[in-house]
Order: sequence, then structure tokens, then C-alpha cells
Amino acid sequence: MGMRACSFCGKPVLERLTQCPYCREAIPEIRLSKRDNPQARKKIREGLLLMLMAAALYYFSGGYGAWQLPPAIQPVAMKTGQGSIGL
Ligand SMILES: [Zn+2]
Repeated sequence: MGMRACSFCGKPVLERLTQCPYCREAIPEIRLSKRDNPQARKKIREGLLLMLMAAALYYFSGGYGAWQLPPAIQPVAMKTGQGSIGL
């Protein structure tokens, strides 16, 4: 069972208690995980996505010209590649 020090008297108090049994002070609940910041999370996810895209671009453009697409993907790639040209 977790113990933590009372912020008022410093004595070890059970984690689940909200009041110190020694000094009777109310113990503010401390949460290890900070309050979720959805914007920061979104930014991290966008950054990861960008990195992934950059890596893919680098992979496809840098020195892998002879690399063949797997047969399952090839028709789709051909379609999208030629569609923009107007075939
Ligand atoms: Zn205390």
C-alpha cells in the first residue's frame, strides 16, 4: 500500500487518506499525471504524423527508384499517378 509524507507534519500517511491522522490537516490529493492537455496531445500526434510522412517521402524519393510496389498496391498507385495526368 502506498505511503506519502504529510505536507504539514511530514509523517508517513496512507496514500488513500485525505486527512492526516497525526495533525488532522487535510491532504490535497496529488495526481502524478498532469491534467490532460488535448492541444499538446494533438500537436504531438501531428508531429509524429509529419515525421512519418517525411520518412515515407524520403524512402520513396531517395535512392529507391528500382524498388517495386507490391502487386496489391500497384494498381492503386498507377491509378492515382496517371489520374492526375489525365489518362
Ligand atoms: Zn500531518
